[in-house]
Amino acid sequence: MALVNEHFLKLPGNYLFADIAKKVNAFKVTHPKADIISLGIGDVTQPLCPAVIEAMHRATDEMATRQGFRGYGPEQGYDFLREAILKNDFLSRGIHLDIDEIFVNDGAKSDTGNIQELVRWDNSIGVTDPIYPVYIDSNVMIGRAGVLEADGENAKQKRWSNVTYMPCTAENGFVPQIPENRHVDVVYLCYPNNPTGTVLSKQELRRWVNYALHNDTLIFFDAAYHAFITDPDIPHSIYEIRGARKCAIEFRSYSKTAGFTGLRCGYTVVPKELTAATLDGRRIALNPLWERRQCTKFNGASYISQRAAEAIYTPEGKQQTQQTIDYYMSNAHLMLATMRKLGFEVYGGENAPYIWMKTPAGTTSWQFFEQLLYGANVVCTPGVGFGPSGEGYVRFTAFGTRESTEEALLRIERWAKV
Ligand SMILES: *Cc1c(COP(=O)(O)O)cnc(C)c1O
Repeated sequence: MALVNEHFLKLPGNYLFADIAKKVNAFKVTHPKADIISLGIGDVTQPLCPAVIEAMHRATDEMATRQGFRGYGPEQGYDFLREAILKNDFLSRGIHLDIDEIFVNDGAKSDTGNIQELVRWDNSIGVTDPIYPVYIDSNVMIGRAGVLEADGENAKQKRWSNVTYMPCTAENGFVPQIPENRHVDVVYLCYPNNPTGTVLSKQELRRWVNYALHNDTLIFFDAAYHAFITDPDIPHSIYEIRGARKCAIEFRSYSKTAGFTGLRCGYTVVPKELTAATLDGRRIALNPLWERRQCTKFNGASYISQRAAEAIYTPEGKQQTQQTIDYYMSNAHLMLATMRKLGFEVYGGENAPYIWMKTPAGTTSWQFFEQLLYGANVVCTPGVGFGPSGEGYVRFTAFGTRESTEEALLRIERWAKV
């Protein structure tokens, strides 16, 4: 008899963006003429840049010839891309990595979800709260998150029993407190953060690395939004911190950096110095384990995607992708300025394409979502969908077009003044 993996049954059935779509559809039924602007889902809107498109055309033409055709590529990625990554993403910031510490993939979601296979099923995990849902859900599926328990004060705010939540709210400046009275084996950090749009300073990140080194904790560091950092003092990579190679894996993605959400390419860094213990205390290097895992379960990102990613590192590619990032960041600045003018409390948006807004006192995330939908025909994302500490906040993305962002802000302005 095939028995189902019952851990899947513990997952709450409703996915955040499906709930949002349902509510938007209900609104559309009663307001068929309304023109809705979404500043909700975190997908990009600007097309791929010319350098990327040209590289893809060239790669496609190569595939059409007997000499240029490529079949299965290396599971870890082609050296041309891994070398460009080493040189441009790390060496330029004083970080020396080896080519076989880079694992090219089809985007960061796969690896942020899969990486938990490297640790035992009974390790405890810690997450900042609110958080990108993949980290917790991928641990739920394997049974590591425990069971979903209702919080004492608020039955709606459920937490997983084997997950340590580190609240990030306006009260603590969105800086997660290091867990002191509860040991966590694995910590997920995402900076710049989705959904709050906030960052950690070098000093704050250093505290995490030191904690990890002293407690034998593994850090999974998601740097999917590093390209949006404008403040020169904010670290782009956790390896800017001394000792991080001994305790951290880092994830990067071209999705937000260069509009690859539909094209698919990213990479993971697993340093050779990084180890975890066996029960009898031997230290095992994780790099060969991940290599083995990838060779077994992954057959590489497509040649065309990897050539496209390589093109981002050319002088034209860098200039063109920066232009698009600047475009999104001016949306963010416009949103921050307008919302502040209207008296809303807003965070993020300086080093990340997300604006995290505190809802007015007494208004829940979902209530504000509905008020904004019905009052201004603008869609945001309820913060509570990212975790219990997201209650009382909503997220706006800067990934819209300039026109739709401006129009949405006008509507919010009109609505807020009523
Ligand atoms: C968008 C995003 C990613 C990237 O996902 P891809 O699979 O590379 O498209 C990773 N982490 C976070 C937190 C994200 O928001």
